[in-house]
Amino acid sequence: MQRHTFVFVIGGVISGLGKGIFTASLAKIFKLKGYNVLPIKIDPYLNVDAGTMRPTEHGEVWVTYDGGEIDQDLGNYERFLHQKFSKNNNLTSGKILWQIIQKERQGKFLGKTVQYIPHVTDHIEEHLVKLSTKNKADITFVEIGGTAGDYEGSLFLHTITRMQQRHNVIIIFMGYILYPPHIKELKTKPFQHSLNNLFEFGIRPDILILRSSHPIDEPRIQKIAQASAVNPEFIVPLPDTRNIYEIPVTIARHKKIINLIQHRIDKLHRKPAITAKNKRISNYLQKYKTFVKKITYIENSSNSITLALVGKYFGSGKFTLTDSYISVIESLKYAAWANNTKILFKWIDSTKITSKNDLTQFFTKEVKGILVPGGFGATGVNGKLLAIRHARENKIPYLGLCYGLQLAIIEYARNVLHFKNANTTEIDSNTPYPVIDILPEQKQILKKSRYGASMRLGEYKAYLSSDTIVYNLYKARQRLFKDSYGPYVVERHRHRYEVNPKYHKQFIKAGLIFSGLSKDKRLVEFIELPKQQHPFFVATQAHPEFTSYPEDPNPLFWGFVKAGLTLWH
Ligand code: GLN
Repeated sequence: MQRHTFVFVIGGVISGLGKGIFTASLAKIFKLKGYNVLPIKIDPYLNVDAGTMRPTEHGEVWVTYDGGEIDQDLGNYERFLHQKFSKNNNLTSGKILWQIIQKERQGKFLGKTVQYIPHVTDHIEEHLVKLSTKNKADITFVEIGGTAGDYEGSLFLHTITRMQQRHNVIIIFMGYILYPPHIKELKTKPFQHSLNNLFEFGIRPDILILRSSHPIDEPRIQKIAQASAVNPEFIVPLPDTRNIYEIPVTIARHKKIINLIQHRIDKLHRKPAITAKNKRISNYLQKYKTFVKKITYIENSSNSITLALVGKYFGSGKFTLTDSYISVIESLKYAAWANNTKILFKWIDSTKITSKNDLTQFFTKEVKGILVPGGFGATGVNGKLLAIRHARENKIPYLGLCYGLQLAIIEYARNVLHFKNANTTEIDSNTPYPVIDILPEQKQILKKSRYGASMRLGEYKAYLSSDTIVYNLYKARQRLFKDSYGPYVVERHRHRYEVNPKYHKQFIKAGLIFSGLSKDKRLVEFIELPKQQHPFFVATQAHPEFTSYPEDPNPLFWGFVKAGLTLWH
């Protein structure tokens, strides 16, 4: 069997240490060095995917190009690495057990007793190896969700133990060093206990990453080195940073750990991995460092633009608004950086906007743009409709994403076309004007399938009309393609409902521009108002926040921020 290189990142003591960002940053370093990197996220929970999870339960759902609904960690990988990854790059216990049981029902185990070890562990290993082979990865980074010692994660630790015998495996353990305020001293004991959970599985870490709220001193590092038998050179404290995009630069300073990993990969290949040899770049980090310098400068300067995000998934339980809309927020930041400014966010809970009188209080003069992101259900919809009307009538730049497009259509139907009580059938199935509805072909799928599998998911092409705002933005940012049907763009989707084709003509007649449509022209993908009427009123049925990268913002966000900056009132 061919040996592969795997770097496993396992957490300890507490969750929420930024394992995902760390893994993405480490992968970025090796990508910049010229290696083919592949990140994989393992979630030990029993959900088959994150599709049916509430955003306030588990942060935002990330949608992959091939229609996977996934934990937001995959979003970090795509953003950091400027690369798209398949839904197969996320593995949950639910998905694995589902596959194992199907295999068993098909008689694929040939009458054997099916057991966690070796059948399930082998299945996980096979999945990882298959992905690494398929992607021709020089190095595969696998982040294990949760912490060592979690009951549900043990299956994966068993898998790692077995893989150590067959592959080139590097183990990175990231844990928390506590600073109890009443003692005012760093305590390494919980870290040591957490490490013991790995030792029980026969796993010895190669590299330790220490997270803490306080700087970690040499005696603690020595103590941990003794307890873990890890050379102090490979024990790295990683302090909190204001800006997560600095982390690749911070990690790269620890040349010892970078060399250790690089040496292991190159040793496996006997010579530098093929891709790296061809592409090895001397000063590999230089360009990225310049970018980090630029954004640090911008974030510390007084240049800013205030934008309002009108959402409804506000803090409840573990997650807060920023987790629920993380991709939208990051996309706006990238757009601002490309426009040499930073964003002052104004979070607006749409359930709090109850009447027209509330608007001036929420949308004060400094608000230079209003964004309505995706959403589901009736909660907060009236507030969003009021916000959209406010943006439209007062010529404040508006960007609508998915539900933000559907609600803009409803607002236009009610207030411009005077379709009384126009609505989406998601909220009102008896509306006299179902301007947003499930298309007949979609209804068929819905009937047949279970909940959570009935949406338009993943990448779709949209054909654009030239000379529209949307067309010009995608062109300016070099994201416009062309085939025999005309100029098109590709974005990701996650929704059940569409603009009802029955009303297309009436909207167009009333002055709304459908700037992007599906190939058969039945699905409305982008809308806008004429430039003479409104400086920037744009919405999309897609989710452009899934294709935004720190150094390459999605064109719609870029244009939205730009429009806000040129607004004079
Ligand atoms: N609720 C709407 C639909 O299902 C919009 C979904 C979204 O914004 N992602 O079509």
